[in-house]
Amino acid sequence: MKSVKNKLFLGFAILIFLILFILSLISIKVFSVNQKNESLGLLDETLFSITDLISKNDDRKIENIDRYVNLKNQFLIILKDKKVFFTNRSNYRTNDILEEIYEEEYEDREKHHHKKDMDFFDKGEKKDYFRVDEYILIYDILEKNDNDYEIYVGIDEDIVEGDLRNILFGIIVLNSTIFIILLVIGYFLINRTIKPLKVILDEVNSLQNGNDLSKRLKEANTKDEFEQLTNSFNKMLNNIENSVDNIKQFSSDASHELKTPLTVIQGEIELCQNSTKSKEELSVSLEKINKEQKKLQEIIKNFLLLSRLDKEVLKNKKALLDKITFESIELNLEKIEAKNLELKLDIEEDLEVDFDEKYLYIVINNLLTNAIKYTNEGFIALIAKRNGNKIIFEISDSGIGISKEDKSKIFERFYRVDKARTCSKDGIGLGLSIVKKICDRFETSIDIQSKEMKGSTFKLIFTA
Ligand code: ADP
Repeated sequence: MKSVKNKLFLGFAILIFLILFILSLISIKVFSVNQKNESLGLLDETLFSITDLISKNDDRKIENIDRYVNLKNQFLIILKDKKVFFTNRSNYRTNDILEEIYEEEYEDREKHHHKKDMDFFDKGEKKDYFRVDEYILIYDILEKNDNDYEIYVGIDEDIVEGDLRNILFGIIVLNSTIFIILLVIGYFLINRTIKPLKVILDEVNSLQNGNDLSKRLKEANTKDEFEQLTNSFNKMLNNIENSVDNIKQFSSDASHELKTPLTVIQGEIELCQNSTKSKEELSVSLEKINKEQKKLQEIIKNFLLLSRLDKEVLKNKKALLDKITFESIELNLEKIEAKNLELKLDIEEDLEVDFDEKYLYIVINNLLTNAIKYTNEGFIALIAKRNGNKIIFEISDSGIGISKEDKSKIFERFYRVDKARTCSKDGIGLGLSIVKKICDRFETSIDIQSKEMKGSTFKLIFTA
């Protein structure tokens, strides 16, 4: 199965393999160069000791030279006046080596070394080294008491290569072991890291199957992204649960609010059907029916407005606050006068706000009709003025006011303060929720100051 764990593990294995492979190549290269340099250095040292010894000692000592110089795996051939004077190999082997050496003309030898040795002595190359078949050799000539001493020190290439092979084998074994150990560690680490994801996945699946929105994921406590994921997921579930609860509440409230006028209408129709009813009684019933059907229309209109607000993309347009305010006042003037309320106005001109005109009218008109509705005597004051790059709008009344507890709730859909106290007033409890929703959409803040039985002030702060 394609799982994150398998993918991570595969990626990890490839990465480790590549790293170890590159490290192996580097270490093989370094070791091989070192090993060759070491072997050549040894030849150097031996040759130096031998020449020193020959120049300082007589032939008797030179004949036993291997007692004074540690030759290790190296072979040493000393020719005195072109005749073998000392060798630490058998005669047959010595002749063989010398034959190889003399096979090439001396003059050609230099050229020969270069060509042949290039690949081998790429680092620390010395011109004195040369290769004859499987040997690496160093050569010197010494004159002492009219005698020529030719000294050949050499080493079998197989010995050098053999060491290299051992090193190579060692590196492969070591790196394979490291590779396996890292794979095992990696597997456990990846497993441990991925485990919370699996737990989350299982829990999400069980939540999905259970269809219970009140359930939450167990806290991860891993102090990493998985914990954040669990928390975010739980927050998301909280929001979903709240939204679903709101929708349920809304639909139950809505059906209740629709049912009440419908019941009244139905009752009145039944009364009207009764033929014994007088003309006056019929007219009262019709009046009631008319009032309730208007209420129904109002509810439906507001429902449509709310659902439009949920979907519609509201573009920031410009609207004149003073103009809209006067339009709303004009429409409500009759009601204000009917209640004998004093109208105080302090409205600056040309107050252009970032708002859609249609929605601005809904906001102002809702606030004004409420102020009129919930004020029996006294005044209604409207203030609109510029304040820096903001425009402040205040609508105050000397009405019944709103208690502290109700202040936080009046923006909820269908909330009406103490129904007994306000039921005499027409209303469906949707006006302020619409006002709030529109203000939020146009990034306009809304604030209430109110004292019961003293009056209320609704303050809006617009961006200009
Ligand atoms: P309604 O249709 O009941 O007026 P709103 O959403 O407009 O619905 O208002 C919610 C509630 O807030 C009202 O029922 C009323 O109790 C209270 N309210 C709103 N405006 C005022 C105000 N100016 N003075 C006192 N109470 C108010």
